Amino acid sequence: MTNSLVTPLTKRYGESIDTYFSGSPLNRVSFLRDNYAFLSDALTNPTTRFLPMQKLEPSIFPDTGLLNTLVYDDLKDAIGNPFEKPEPEAVSAWDSSKESPLLVFLGIDESKSGGVTYGNYSGRAYFALDVTVPVDSTTPYATALADIVDKVEATGAPFTPVRTQYVLNYSEAAIYAQARSYMDWNIRNPFCAGCGTRTMSVNGGGKRVCPPTDRGVAKGPCPTRGVVTNIAFPRSDPTIIVAVVNSAGDRLLLGRNKRFPAGFYSCLAGFCEPGESIEESVRREVWEESGVKLGKVAIYASQPWPYPASLMVGAIAEALPDGESIHLEHDPELGDAQWFPFSVVRDALTIAERKSNILDISGEPTEAPIKVPPSKAIAHNLMRAVVFENAHLPKI
Ligand SMILES: [Zn+2]
Repeated sequence: MTNSLVTPLTKRYGESIDTYFSGSPLNRVSFLRDNYAFLSDALTNPTTRFLPMQKLEPSIFPDTGLLNTLVYDDLKDAIGNPFEKPEPEAVSAWDSSKESPLLVFLGIDESKSGGVTYGNYSGRAYFALDVTVPVDSTTPYATALADIVDKVEATGAPFTPVRTQYVLNYSEAAIYAQARSYMDWNIRNPFCAGCGTRTMSVNGGGKRVCPPTDRGVAKGPCPTRGVVTNIAFPRSDPTIIVAVVNSAGDRLLLGRNKRFPAGFYSCLAGFCEPGESIEESVRREVWEESGVKLGKVAIYASQPWPYPASLMVGAIAEALPDGESIHLEHDPELGDAQWFPFSVVRDALTIAERKSNILDISGEPTEAPIKVPPSKAIAHNLMRAVVFENAHLPKI
């Protein structure tokens, strides 16, 4: 998705790009997350929408590809109102034995009128709710959550994996990406990294704290409870993905992960390590995985990847003239890597764009020598930017 406004910067560097899983219509109003009066109003407003999520998957209507949502009346029996008291009072009253369903405030859609209003901000609020029924059936809210799951399933919108089926449109995928990453992070961090006791979700699911007391009794010392460190925020893990061009400018380096079948190729990718720049990370990963040595690295676009919390930084890079030999012996990740002529990649991209947006890695390719990721994947757009003349903009 591109923003077609032409400005001095876009003339020089190209149009801005919203990749899949980015470009959310929501204003996160992150500065209001600790304002429980606002969150309480948002929670109980009849226009507010709640994304039910089961094991981190959303409920999707198969015919339209739209997210299924609930209203407060559908789920108030399960969640009550966790924002009734101001946040400091809620932290003081913390009782680790009383868990409640995980609820995450996502933001407000200011294009929708009639929703919650706070100062200059007004719109339809969105929350995500974890409706996964606890394994322990004695959990007080287990029955209420099971009722919500029944209600969701009766609408004909099953809980659907999004990772390999890009069925959601851009806006809805971006809302889901935020919901999934925040929810996953909360679920993975039930205990304090400093002292091992239970943590508490605050800021509408945007932060976790290690409260100083539990059921009114002071807890032991905790290194995270200092002046500014009594907090744990969700993380984003930078990852690089790169389209590598040979020094002659007519071939593209693509790799096949060992998990993929013969014939499916994509851009090389990997995690950034602490203490390296994006450009260094690109050079290291490409050399480790393929043996190819890089010169210039240019950052092209980025994409949130909520599995669980990656931020993929897409780059285009050039191989050094004497560094183009492929060696796979450093890193066992790739089963194969090859320099493909632009014409081969163009054919594969064109076929992928004609087909659905389902990530098709099954079977041998039949219409082109190789298969490549679908058009909503950043890898596809990086390849496209390189092999189509004057096509520096993503095809979506
Ligand atoms: Zn602690």
